[in-house]
Amino acid sequence: MTIAKDDRLSTLEQSIAGLLERLYPICRSITGPGVRETLRILSQVHPIAVTEVATGTRVFDWTVPRERSVREAWIKDATGRTIVDFKAHNLHVLNYSAPIEGRFSLEELRPHLYSLPQMPDAIPYRTSYYNDNWGFCLTDRQLQTLDEGPYDVRIDSSLAQGSLTYGEIVLPGEVEDEILISTHICHPSLANDNLTGMALAIHLADRMSKVRRRHTWRFLFTPVTIGSITWLALNEGRARRVRHGLVITGVGDKSPFIYKRSRHGTASIDRAAARVLAQSGEAHSLIDFYPYGYDERQFNSPGFDLPVGRFSRASHGDYPEYHTSADNLDFVRPASVVRALDLVEAITTTVDRDRVYVSRNPKGEPQLGKHGLYRKVAGQTGQQTDELALLWVMNCADGKHSLADMAEKAGLPVERLEAAAGRLEAHGLIEPA
Ligand code: ZN
Repeated sequence: MTIAKDDRLSTLEQSIAGLLERLYPICRSITGPGVRETLRILSQVHPIAVTEVATGTRVFDWTVPRERSVREAWIKDATGRTIVDFKAHNLHVLNYSAPIEGRFSLEELRPHLYSLPQMPDAIPYRTSYYNDNWGFCLTDRQLQTLDEGPYDVRIDSSLAQGSLTYGEIVLPGEVEDEILISTHICHPSLANDNLTGMALAIHLADRMSKVRRRHTWRFLFTPVTIGSITWLALNEGRARRVRHGLVITGVGDKSPFIYKRSRHGTASIDRAAARVLAQSGEAHSLIDFYPYGYDERQFNSPGFDLPVGRFSRASHGDYPEYHTSADNLDFVRPASVVRALDLVEAITTTVDRDRVYVSRNPKGEPQLGKHGLYRKVAGQTGQQTDELALLWVMNCADGKHSLADMAEKAGLPVERLEAAAGRLEAHGLIEPA
């Protein structure tokens, strides 16, 4: 399966299309070789450090599960004809299915068959991570054609002592305070959820590796839930340094953007996302935190309470293609991912640059003219200096307001306040708090 190349793609869009096409066929799960292969391919855009955590490791209330791999899985009818085959589509096997081999009537098989009557041509994505179960997923149209059987069934999979794999990129900054970007890497052949999240995150890491950074930037590529919990359990000290964060998922479809606020609701990242989306002219909605969804649940758990929001287009469960074989390469567009990448970059670089200042001249306004910061002739229009921005920064340089806060109060673009703060700092009138 390939990405529709109906438009002329930019170099970046081509890179994203190529990545999605290579990642799509891989059978991923919360552990196993598919995750390692995925990280290896993503590493070709920017190197990822891979960590393996042994099966059985306790991580808060959870335990790292046995590692899973599937070699083959099929259902054959009485004539020996293969009617469902894992090799044709990896969604055909219940994710984390236990191995099975035997002959079953349709009646015996039915509790192990999953289909979607409301989408008769789509194969559903079903998982059974933490219960021993076996099963197949197939289109409802196919299920309806099955006779009473018997059927020969084989799932040659292993659930064995091994490890959970996650990937990490750390880009050191001027300070140890961190910006966290997290995305999940455990879904098999599903494109929007979440190959597009991975494609965005790895390209953002590559971009950020080439520019000056104030914060230390950390990118996490983890299996959903158990992966972020494992990272948090093994990195509690580092997690405490996260000042701003985003979970990225589902950015390749055409629907409007959704920003889900952190638990705080008014964290810098929440306000930066609201501002960037408002200025973007894109259709979008802002929603409050709720304890369901993706890994924002773990980062926002009360014991961590990290200011981590979630950036996506269509939300989980809200589109018919979600968690079905219809979430495929036809459903996503590289241009949608690129637009999301640009917006996420704008949001995260805003919080990266955001600063709090203290005035060194807090009693009365400074005499700007004396410092060469005021227009030469009072009353003239079209002045060279941005006096309004200078006055806002001086007034808000109280150790409490960040540049983003000032931008909100002043109704001015944050870039103007940044430029003003830079000049005031250069003239010794303010200093970083
Ligand atoms: Zn999902």
